[in-house]
Amino acid sequence: MHEDVMEKLNERLKDYIPTNISTPVEKALYTTESMFGMDKKQADEIRFKAVKYAFKHHYENNKFYKNICKENGIGPDDIKSEEDFVKIPLLPHRFFKDYPSGRDFAIWLTNLMSTEIPKIVIKGKNPSYDDVIDAFQQAGITVCFSSGTTGKFTFIPRDEKTYKMGQYAIARCAVEMLSHWWDYNSNAYLLFPNPKKTNIYVGKVTNVLYDLVKDVRVAIDRKITTDILRISMGITFNFKERMMSKIAKSATKRMNEGMVKNIVKWVEEMDKNKERIIFAGAPFILNMVMDRLIEEGKKFDFGERGAVLTGGGWKVYEDKRMPVEEFRRKVEDTFGIPPENCLDLYAMVEANGFMVHCPEGHYLHVPTTYFHPMVLDENGEQVDYGEEGRFAFLDSLATSYPGFIITGDKVRLLDSCPSCNRNGVVLEPEVERIRGEEGRGCAEEMRRILLEE
Ligand SMILES: [Zn+2]
Repeated sequence: MHEDVMEKLNERLKDYIPTNISTPVEKALYTTESMFGMDKKQADEIRFKAVKYAFKHHYENNKFYKNICKENGIGPDDIKSEEDFVKIPLLPHRFFKDYPSGRDFAIWLTNLMSTEIPKIVIKGKNPSYDDVIDAFQQAGITVCFSSGTTGKFTFIPRDEKTYKMGQYAIARCAVEMLSHWWDYNSNAYLLFPNPKKTNIYVGKVTNVLYDLVKDVRVAIDRKITTDILRISMGITFNFKERMMSKIAKSATKRMNEGMVKNIVKWVEEMDKNKERIIFAGAPFILNMVMDRLIEEGKKFDFGERGAVLTGGGWKVYEDKRMPVEEFRRKVEDTFGIPPENCLDLYAMVEANGFMVHCPEGHYLHVPTTYFHPMVLDENGEQVDYGEEGRFAFLDSLATSYPGFIITGDKVRLLDSCPSCNRNGVVLEPEVERIRGEEGRGCAEEMRRILLEE
């Protein structure tokens, strides 16, 4: 990334950067000149130190993870080079969905954590998930969640340090790929829930957007708790909730109508004032807006002043995926925003790795200095580059929980990008769920919240 862009960005993000950068993990994130473009040998070395440091940290500070390591007969001294990374025990993503309720939920979260737990005050004998999440937040721990189609949640506790590193990382990764476009003097429309009103990961993770551009509008401005999300997913436990679900359905239709109308109004205003704009969030919401504009015969020419950064998955309806290329053409046709300014970002609640499309070929570049990706077959063995398998990773930024995780996503990893000359590995442009895994993807959550039928 250009030095002047990075300097400007670090100035905007100074609240996320510790005054004393000391650990190999902090160095990997904050002091490297590029997340995607560094010399391979240098990046490999930085990443090795960061991941090894993280492994030692969890081994020494997390009782349950240490037990897993002991069962596998592996300790920090066994990690001597990158080849040894395969020995690091991985947690299946289902592990983070296997939570109890009430006060036990708080204990379960605490046991996950590898950092000192501050005093957490939980009121009442039988607190709800949302009560526990609020109590953790009071103590400085952000518990983010996402949900699958069956209404089971994934919960991840981030202490302040992990949360800030994640926020800095998503900003750095996104701005690096959009460095030709990024300018603080821009306006954003966030096509996700308001990060100030929810702990849904897809909402919360975008909080840093407020520090990247001068003005942010939000498409979904309601407070969204685990209960509200579950009821919108159609999982109801009693008569009251079934009624709520019904009422929500009829109210939502009107709200969607209002949402699209507001976005269209904003676009017209931005166009009139020759402002710079970015849409950040769920592609299907932007698709709804584009369909409306097409219906009304409206077109815009934002050109280089416009950008789109999508995330959360590409399911538009139940099983229908939107072809990403077609989406980019539609964006160019409707807003005049060129395809190289229309990028997708792949992330998940369990990780602080942010894979971002390169403008040249729209391959998902994996950050090289702090995040180690792997692709496994069903026996947990690594497959070769170019072969399909299950995505797994060693995330060194996860300080408050062991970020060594096997996901339910199907990917193909390539040892270099076929389209651009940035160093480092890439994932093929689109990621899908593995057959038999519960449907997920934040777009699915958003769709259910908006009940678009
Ligand atoms: Zn590329």
